[in-house]
Amino acid sequence: MTDVSPDPEAARWNYHPGGVVQLNPLFSRPLDLRAVWRWYQGAWFQVTALTVPLVLAIVVWWAFLPALETMQAFQVGWMVQVWLANLLPQILVAGGLHWWLYSRKGQGKRKKFDARDLAFSNGTFTFRSQLWDNVWWTLGSAITVATVYQWGLFWMMANGYVPVISFTENPVWSVLWLFLIPAWSSFHYYWVHRLEHHPRLYARVHAVHHRNVNIGPWTGISNHWFENALYFSTYWIHLIVPSHPLHLMFHAMFQQISPVMSHSGFEKVIVGDAEAAKSGDFFHQLHHRYFECNYGTSELPFDRWFGTFHDGSFAATQRTRAHKKQMYSR
Ligand SMILES: [Zn+2]
Ligand SMILES: [Zn+2]
Repeated sequence: MTDVSPDPEAARWNYHPGGVVQLNPLFSRPLDLRAVWRWYQGAWFQVTALTVPLVLAIVVWWAFLPALETMQAFQVGWMVQVWLANLLPQILVAGGLHWWLYSRKGQGKRKKFDARDLAFSNGTFTFRSQLWDNVWWTLGSAITVATVYQWGLFWMMANGYVPVISFTENPVWSVLWLFLIPAWSSFHYYWVHRLEHHPRLYARVHAVHHRNVNIGPWTGISNHWFENALYFSTYWIHLIVPSHPLHLMFHAMFQQISPVMSHSGFEKVIVGDAEAAKSGDFFHQLHHRYFECNYGTSELPFDRWFGTFHDGSFAATQRTRAHKKQMYSR
């Protein structure tokens, strides 16, 4: 069976998921509770860009993160541990996915959206290599900014400057907040990303991320320093919302690992004939090809509300191109 769709947009892709891109049915009317259940079941009961960060956060927090009491003063020991708690999972997931999908070509081009391979010997990229450009902006810029923010937050938590809770004393809120963090992050991301597409900020800052029209796992948080400063400011919600260190760790893993999966360029990771993980995100893949559409995520349908939703159809491509022309003619 081949992946076919009657829409001419399908011919532009190696793999087009077919039909239109789905958005979170929680915001569709009339409300279809079964569709909502399927949506959340697909996100939380499989290997996904939500469950991988959650498992990593629990492991890192339990086995690796220093106790809050040791973070009351800025000391090299725990600060290096927090840096490694960010760095190592990133290398593991982005490196692992890149190896399977692009070095070993473990599943060939099955479920690969863009037909092209990643770019080498291309002057657009730092070090003339898409891979090393992305590795540098991820491990150099993004992980540094994320870590510095976490140093500040953990230090404030340790000293009681921000509200800290425990899972045993506040079980309901603790679990609920864990599930709400991705929604908060999605809300924050939409507005930050929208701002970065202002033509001036785009040229100086966000263009670093958009060098990647064809994307790979290391593209996820391959961002300019200023973009990272904005992107990771999502953590500052913990200044006001009562949280446990595990909440911050999940927020951290979600913010840095989830884009690795959504930028993988493949809809699914396949090992043998088995589907090992849901990885790519056609919604965001469209953003990298057509730019002025799909600024948010499929979780919160801001793009549909504000008229910038690209649903994967040829008509949407034409609409997006007209919108871009209009933006840059002002
Ligand atoms: Zn963008
Ligand atoms: Zn992106």
